[in-house]
Amino acid sequence: MTSNTASKPTDALEARDLISAGNTWEDRLLSLQSDTQSLRDSVIRHLSQTLGRDVGNTSAQYLYKAVALSVRDRLMQRWLATRQTVEVDAPRQTCYLSMEYLMGRALRNAVHNLSLGEELGAALEELGLTLEKIEQLETDAGLGNGGLGRLAACFLDSCASLGLPVTGYGLRYRYGMFRQSIHEGHQIEHPDNWLNEGHIWELERPELSCSVRFGGRVELLTQEDGSVIHRWVDTDDVRAVPFDVPVPGYANGVVNTLRLWSSTATHEFNLSEFNAGGYTEAVSAKNSAENISMVLYPNDSSENGKALRLRQQYFLVSASLQDALRIWLLKNDGFTGFADAYCFQLNDTHPSLAVAELMRLLVDEHELSWDDAWSITTRVMAYTNHTLLPEALECWSLALIGGLLPRPTEIIQEINRRFLRELEEAMPAQLQQHAEMSIISFDEHPVVRMAHLAIVGSFSINGVAALHSRLLQEGLFKNFNTLWPERFNNKTNGVTQRRWLAYCNPLLSNLLDKVLGEQWVSQLEQLEQLAPMAESDTFQSHWNTIRRQNKQALAQLVAERSGVIVSPDMLFDVQVKRMHEYKRQLLCVLHAVHVYLDLLDGREHPPRFVLIAGKAAPGYYMAKSIIKLINNVAEVINNDERVEGKLKLVFLPDYNVSAMEVICPAADLSEQVSTAGKEASGTGNMKFMMNGAVTIGTLDGANVEIREAVGEANFFLFGLTVDQVDECRGNYSPADIIAGDERLSRLFAAFDDGMFDEGEPGLIRNVIDAARSAHDSWLTVADLPAYLDAQMQVEAVWENSAEWTRMSILNTAHSSRFSTDRTMRDYNRDIWRLQPMTLPE
Ligand SMILES: *Cc1c(COP(=O)(O)O)cnc(C)c1O
Repeated sequence: MTSNTASKPTDALEARDLISAGNTWEDRLLSLQSDTQSLRDSVIRHLSQTLGRDVGNTSAQYLYKAVALSVRDRLMQRWLATRQTVEVDAPRQTCYLSMEYLMGRALRNAVHNLSLGEELGAALEELGLTLEKIEQLETDAGLGNGGLGRLAACFLDSCASLGLPVTGYGLRYRYGMFRQSIHEGHQIEHPDNWLNEGHIWELERPELSCSVRFGGRVELLTQEDGSVIHRWVDTDDVRAVPFDVPVPGYANGVVNTLRLWSSTATHEFNLSEFNAGGYTEAVSAKNSAENISMVLYPNDSSENGKALRLRQQYFLVSASLQDALRIWLLKNDGFTGFADAYCFQLNDTHPSLAVAELMRLLVDEHELSWDDAWSITTRVMAYTNHTLLPEALECWSLALIGGLLPRPTEIIQEINRRFLRELEEAMPAQLQQHAEMSIISFDEHPVVRMAHLAIVGSFSINGVAALHSRLLQEGLFKNFNTLWPERFNNKTNGVTQRRWLAYCNPLLSNLLDKVLGEQWVSQLEQLEQLAPMAESDTFQSHWNTIRRQNKQALAQLVAERSGVIVSPDMLFDVQVKRMHEYKRQLLCVLHAVHVYLDLLDGREHPPRFVLIAGKAAPGYYMAKSIIKLINNVAEVINNDERVEGKLKLVFLPDYNVSAMEVICPAADLSEQVSTAGKEASGTGNMKFMMNGAVTIGTLDGANVEIREAVGEANFFLFGLTVDQVDECRGNYSPADIIAGDERLSRLFAAFDDGMFDEGEPGLIRNVIDAARSAHDSWLTVADLPAYLDAQMQVEAVWENSAEWTRMSILNTAHSSRFSTDRTMRDYNRDIWRLQPMTLPE
């Protein structure tokens, strides 16, 4: 075995090249114990030996690291075993391609999924520490904007917990989602330097790096047999280095992988530049390469047409597909069988260049025929649409994409040429439809429609809630649905009940353990057994004790971050999500102002605390103005002694996953008030429901299914339906609605009087004027009277505490269909068709 060490370069040497023949290490593997004493020793050893610190003289960060390393040690063997199973034994696997993963913190999740909670808690107690305090020291991994990125994170948890061989592929942004602070009511953005202290949960795998090409040109070469091959030459290459993050399943011995690519310069410097004396130019190319994975674009549900964003997308797609092909070729000679062994799920159109890139790799690099390559591609790609908003539908200018990615662009053009030919056969003489469906638009300045590329290249196309999928099929993708109805399906989103109930709400979780047994954590249907207890006095009283403590914890967070003191006896009315006009945070503030004016007029309302939080895209002027408006209104209300103890309004800065873990167990009322037809699904709505909040909402996204699950009597419905929204446009007159409703007249008069201007009238008047405009796409004023009515019903029920508690319990009881365990089973049954892995626990 050692004979070939001399002939190999050191970086190609395998461990077994060095170990003498017959010497096996397998039976010497250390099996780490997970009792209290071993865990305690681990923490001490990591602090002193791995990190080189002593307790007397080190920052708290090191305590966190020592604990995290001790936990990480205990998932390493399972992780290795799972990777081997996925790469070698699994007959079929899925690669989930996503530009975003909003993971949040990892420690608590790992501790509980590995069932280390009790022992580790006891070990830390012996060291004078509490696990909870240690957990708070971890920085969120915020590699996503909002719902789409968090969904990817919940999917990974459920796949691992179901034992599905699914690998997440994404980008390791140096700077994740910006941190938000509020200065004089305005949003201020700060870079999220999340890797500053190092990241315990990633393992760099430089040996699996690959090269991604940009720029250059395409050369045509005629071969001896007359066929023509395409060579992509003179490219600027960027090295993609993978960092693996473990994804532990719940108590099942499975640890899946999230593989995040980081960009660095290639070692192959451009030699001609070198020789021409361009040494510094060649070396400084390193900077532009490292730029690719530098920063997450902070736009949620809206396109950012920057070239760097396109480079990021191609970088993710090319590196991930090369990795999948590499793994396949470890155990196979050619590509026969590949289409039966792989599925690539595209999280929105962001990774839809995968269609062109897989074609390029198969045709150019692996010399398959076009037809064979296309047959494989269209059997492995599956596309999830996340939005109907026109501003979110990605279109890249053909000129831009052609300059940056000449060869993939040629391939897109060829795919489109063949697709249009197919259309002439399938839908003859429907030229209008052909133009609408074409991947490349027929304009003077053509664009590549990424959704069309994804649809033409995929065998499955899904929306993310029943209503959304129907609207896709009847509206945006109508023509495609006529052509290929079998490709379209719905997969209603979910959230993982581990992070979003069991771990973020330990008090409720304990109660559930006691009354249901512990199986509910992996079989959420068991929650249905709560329904018969909804009216029991003793169960209600346990329920309310817990909810009160959760509200106290949120009140404390609010006090720390905003200085405002609220009582847990108030109705906690919560809207937290990205700031967007379609989500209508404005409705929520306008209601708060309505209650305020009522109180000043001497009318009674039950004490209410309105909490709003969310980040605005830095370039989204209107969303930022809404933040300012909320803060102005809050300033007036919170400082008015006349409403002391009756009404508080807070805009909580820096909404993220960890904040939501405190917020959702403490909400009484969940605000899900988007304009019907605009919110594809929503997942915040599901987290709240699971934790016992009652929803006030429109018939939009997954609200429809939430209301169906919990029963209409236990949901506060208001607002126009999708059809009514469509009808409303064209003859919409907010001025008449305002004039016809005294509540609205009083409300808008207060803004006109400058009650909330805080010396800076322009900004917030813009927001109010937009809502009053006949062209307001979000129809805020149209829904406002019904919203105020629904809020009155909320108050009426709230004043009957037993009735409210019953509703709260029923919301949790009927929330099981919004588990991502159910969502992943649906994807697996209809799209992925994977066999669950079984590994020793
Ligand atoms: C769940 C979640 C979201 C999505 O919220 P929606 O209300 O569905 O828009 C966004 N951000 C964070 C941090 C979340 O946890």
